[in-house]
Amino acid sequence: MTAKIIDGKAVAKRMRAEIAEDVKKLQEQYGVTPGLATVLVGDNPASQSYVRMKQRACEKVGITSFGHKLPADASQEEVEALVRQLNEDPNVHGILVQLPLPKHLDEERVLSLISLHKDVDGFHPINIGRLAMKGREPLFIPCTPYGAMVLLKEAGAQIEGANAVVLGRSNIVGMPMAMLLIHANATVTVCHSRTRDLPAVTRQADILIAAVGRPEMVKADWVKPGAYVIDVGSNKVDDPSSEKGYRWVGDVAFDEVKEVAGAITPSPGGVGPMTITMLLKNTLRGAEMVARGEV
Ligand code: NDP
Repeated sequence: MTAKIIDGKAVAKRMRAEIAEDVKKLQEQYGVTPGLATVLVGDNPASQSYVRMKQRACEKVGITSFGHKLPADASQEEVEALVRQLNEDPNVHGILVQLPLPKHLDEERVLSLISLHKDVDGFHPINIGRLAMKGREPLFIPCTPYGAMVLLKEAGAQIEGANAVVLGRSNIVGMPMAMLLIHANATVTVCHSRTRDLPAVTRQADILIAAVGRPEMVKADWVKPGAYVIDVGSNKVDDPSSEKGYRWVGDVAFDEVKEVAGAITPSPGGVGPMTITMLLKNTLRGAEMVARGEV
């Protein structure tokens, strides 16, 4: 059996075109242009490149982006003052603080200062708390797990009642992913570095989410035949045969797992393009809430 390939690039492209249409409608109807403020502290090259990608994606769909940069030695007070200023700015509907922050800064405090209705990354403790509670809804869902859920639905996965296994329990991917699957009525097992006999656990999964940051760790014999496999992993590995000397691979051994799974995302080209798309969608939602007087 060869798995259906879930094409994240194609889904993201279609969704971004829909978002661009909705941005236009919002401007015509309410005269409001969605705005995303990015806060970058320090000069980590990966963070700089993520922020640039987010800004470019905004421009393409008509969202205004406001880039704010602070030096690596910025004080807690300076970062907090900037977040407060952005909270007050009526042209800003979403605030994204690029993580990780330099070690001397208190990340939790900074994230909890972001206005709930501008928390487009979905990391505010109240948004995360609502995601964890039965019968509550967060204003914004964290972008990477949100994108993974969209891909599962696009692929036609039956989530309700399914056995879902999430590999990884990080604040930004694994944990919110598990909570979203519980919201969607899956039976969820969360695995981490202390889990015993991982393959035995993952073989029970109708839906398997890999978010561990270990290149091609999930092998064919870890996967139940017909399972839906979402590979969140994005790992740079040496590859002397490539011009650049490296290539990107996921947490799943794609070539062998696709022979067992029912559906699978490639990496790159799966969850990655969805993450920024969901950020755009959340920013649009932030602007819509303001325009409609919901906040
Ligand atoms: P973290 O390093 O924060 O978390 C990794 C998780 O995997 C931890 O819970 C850890 O367990 C667990 N883990 C690590 N090694 C093992 C192991 N050998 N066996 C079992 N569990 C293990 O990573 P992130 O969640 O931030 O990212 C995960 C992957 O997703 C990375 O490849 C990252 O690049 C990618 N990513 C992709 C995004 C996208 O947009 N496509 C966005 C964000 C991340 P423990 O808690 O016990 O330490």
